[in-house]
Amino acid sequence: MSEVVGYYLQGQDNDADMLTEDIVYPKCKQCARLLDSDFHNPSFKLKRKSFDLSHANDVGNVVSLRFKEFCLRRNYRGLVFKDFEREKDFFQLIVSTVVRFDLNRAEVEYGQKCSGCNRFDSVIAMKPLHLSCIDEPLEDGFYRTDMVIGRNNTMTALIIVGLETYRLLKRERFRGLVFMPVYK
Ligand SMILES: [Zn+2]
Repeated sequence: MSEVVGYYLQGQDNDADMLTEDIVYPKCKQCARLLDSDFHNPSFKLKRKSFDLSHANDVGNVVSLRFKEFCLRRNYRGLVFKDFEREKDFFQLIVSTVVRFDLNRAEVEYGQKCSGCNRFDSVIAMKPLHLSCIDEPLEDGFYRTDMVIGRNNTMTALIIVGLETYRLLKRERFRGLVFMPVYK
């Protein structure tokens, strides 16, 4: 097995929708799917609040105040925490530093491609996950994959963290975090 360079970080489902019926979101005119996987709905209402990292039914990584404060203390770059009007202790985490999937070594299943937005309606990546253009383990910090994974309106970039970040997050005993190794 090749070297572990980071961890894919996942939280738990929070049973709530980011794309509620009362809001307008950017969608493709042809397939009607969401065009922005970082879409933020300021009136988002969380259903399950027991996790430090959770995911909406559609899109959106939601973190607790404690998770946000940890990231601010560590001074991680490329992170944005967006506020919710009705959830003062939770934030939408948006990660901007991109790492690339190694598509030569990943088994990826693509669904149908929409000619309107030029996107697949599903992209499923099989484990193990490999990153390309990486010689050393990732530096302490948060990264996002260049590809969005999932189906329809649930397609989202994966969050990847460095080895030290993994160690620190484990030490904090955050609730609901799941880690999976990614390789170079
Ligand atoms: Zn489309």
